[in-house]
Amino acid sequence: MALTVNEVEKRYGAIHALKGVSLTVEPGEIRGLCGENGAGKSTLGKIIAGVVAPDAGEIMVDGKPIRLRSTAEALAHGISIVAQELAVVPYLTVAENVMLGQEPRRGIAVNRKQLRKRFLELSEQVGFSLDPNARLGALRKSEQQKAEILRAVARDARLIVMDEPTAALSSDEARQLVAATRRLAAEGRTIVFVSHHLDEVLAVCDNITVLRDGRYVRTGSAGNETPDSLVTSMTGQSL
Ligand code: ATP
Repeated sequence: MALTVNEVEKRYGAIHALKGVSLTVEPGEIRGLCGENGAGKSTLGKIIAGVVAPDAGEIMVDGKPIRLRSTAEALAHGISIVAQELAVVPYLTVAENVMLGQEPRRGIAVNRKQLRKRFLELSEQVGFSLDPNARLGALRKSEQQKAEILRAVARDARLIVMDEPTAALSSDEARQLVAATRRLAAEGRTIVFVSHHLDEVLAVCDNITVLRDGRYVRTGSAGNETPDSLVTSMTGQSL
């Protein structure tokens, strides 16, 4: 399994956000996480990506238990998150943002030309066209989000959590993001796709896990699900 979540618990003060959630995700799978507001989707995504620490339970990546204390540690384990709160540096260029952190890792100084070449290779790989020299802070949210995805790929993340990635996008932009997500999975990357847009989840994901009130409800293959079947599980009430 690329990802195993085992009996994970999380409380925020009096709020019991995750109540013993367990699931497994296969390599190259796009796994949707669905649930009503407050079901615990984002909390689970954040725990997988090292943004939030669980109170109990275990996360395993490629069969090995990992205990993450930061997103930097997560990245070292090949895990990245593309969240609504973007982690980009607004005053740097697109290419600089994407390639941030590459130099020390490779132990060589990367010059501008090399940076640009690698950036263009990555863009082609994922299917995005962004101006490498634009200052990221001046771009639309959708373009900033693309830069975040490219950065995850630049760091060779094998497991990418996407938390409501299309929330700020137009329908055209959302389609591009969905296509990119599929490409990433076709390369063997594992994607956890958090969204409350059921049509989108059904269109992009292989399997969908439903959470309700902090609990795991069930996982179904996208081919066997409909928006109605998901809503029934999300709410606990038949339509
Ligand atoms: P949404 O779609 O509304 O984001 P969600 O399914 O992603 O919902 P979470 O964001 O994980 O749910 O929230 C689960 C519960 O934990 C909610 O009751 C939420 O209010 C609470 N919660 C989330 N983050 C925090 C926090 N930092 N501090 C306190 N409570 C939090």
